[in-house]
Amino acid sequence: MKYVSTRGSAPELSFEEAMLSGLATDGGLYVPAEVPTFDPREIALLHGKSYEDAAFAIMRPFAGDTFEEDEFRALIKAAYASFGHDCRAPLKQAGDGIWLLELFHGPTLAFKDFAMQLIGQMFQAVLQRRGESVTIVGATSGDTGSAAIEAFRGLDNVDVCILYPHGKVSEVQRRQMTTPTEANVRAFAVEGTFDDCQRHLKDMFADSGFREEMRLAAVNSINWARVMAQVVYYFTSAVALGAPDRKISFCVPTGNFGDIYAGEVARRMGLPVERLVIATNQNDILHRALVSGDYRTGEVRPSISPSMDIQVSSNFERLLFDAYGRDADAVVSLMDDLNSGNGFRIGDVALGRIGETFASGRVSEEETMSRIGAMHDAIGQLVCPHTAVGLEVAHRMAKPRVPMIALATADPAKFPDAVERATDIRPPLPNRMANLYERPERVTRVENDFAELCRAIREGRAA
Ligand SMILES: *Cc1c(COP(=O)(O)O)cnc(C)c1O
Repeated sequence: MKYVSTRGSAPELSFEEAMLSGLATDGGLYVPAEVPTFDPREIALLHGKSYEDAAFAIMRPFAGDTFEEDEFRALIKAAYASFGHDCRAPLKQAGDGIWLLELFHGPTLAFKDFAMQLIGQMFQAVLQRRGESVTIVGATSGDTGSAAIEAFRGLDNVDVCILYPHGKVSEVQRRQMTTPTEANVRAFAVEGTFDDCQRHLKDMFADSGFREEMRLAAVNSINWARVMAQVVYYFTSAVALGAPDRKISFCVPTGNFGDIYAGEVARRMGLPVERLVIATNQNDILHRALVSGDYRTGEVRPSISPSMDIQVSSNFERLLFDAYGRDADAVVSLMDDLNSGNGFRIGDVALGRIGETFASGRVSEEETMSRIGAMHDAIGQLVCPHTAVGLEVAHRMAKPRVPMIALATADPAKFPDAVERATDIRPPLPNRMANLYERPERVTRVENDFAELCRAIREGRAA
């Protein structure tokens, strides 16, 4: 399986190379040259399989010959062994025709563990084989950083540096990043927004000197391997509700478009998906883009669902690439417009194609709070604010006869303040994390300045 860049001028890479490099050298994102397809009979074979066995079947064609069969099975098994639920991604009914896919039973209590735990295993296997080491840098609005740190802490071949916007992540998220004691993981609190962090990260990769010197690798949601790992639970949940004999819709609380894009990949692989619904908070660039065709950035407005507080949605570029018939020049010109101004217009044909599958909704802070309360009243379940954003839009858009699966992206205990305000109940941390508030923190504060950030990353290296 070969991978190509959405901007057309980076070299084609194998799965292994695409995973190790993350971002393409031309600034684009890697996508498979051809998406493998499953026919209905093959999809039906997933019925009754364990999560791990389904994951093997679905991811195998993407990974190609990077791993031997037995090795790949072992990596998948190790990746999900630390989850606190045997089913890994259990599905619960949450209303008439609405289902909740619980993706928060991993070690950092958010869906990003699904991809990150597997990436940790795959990176280690590949780097050991090559006798190499890398510095993983990531920008996070909260959950990616803790998931990456949890996946790589203590590994020999990897240093991890995570940039997060100072003061703009929840206390649990921050503590998950600043309390690990292993020397190979470091957290950087940047005086800026998540978009600033993400821009610095892109600039580091564009700086070939720094990139080579540090042997930079990225595990942000732009890394193809993350998208791949997330495709799995779209299949397992749809199959549990009757696919391939029945169409299913998904509603996904969306920020960087990585999670929902995995749903689009599942659809293109042959899963009968009726609708993929983008749910945004007040940072609604994607909703506005879908409604008007105008992708236009504004100021980030901090919300109670901080992991979706973005203005640029990186993985959207992958969807644009497909919507423009894989015309890399068209993508380059859109991205040039974005970089030189503050947005671009999506062409009518491309917008029409996107609209065949995608719908969207925007949820205010008040609506998020009242949905948390309503869920608790209706089924006695506490949900995190991101999940509530998704559930609110799911309720607006649900149609009879097509089940709507709403992705529950984090444990409510990660965002206890908002949940308590909405329900008067403070969700407790699971036992395995109960002493998080007592552990000492270790963090490097840095100005919102590219050169200073690079210096701090270079100077504090473990080895
Ligand atoms: C990252 C995150 C999201 C957004 O996912 P994207 O892949 O960036 O769209 C939603 N909810 C939670 C809890 C997250 O951590």
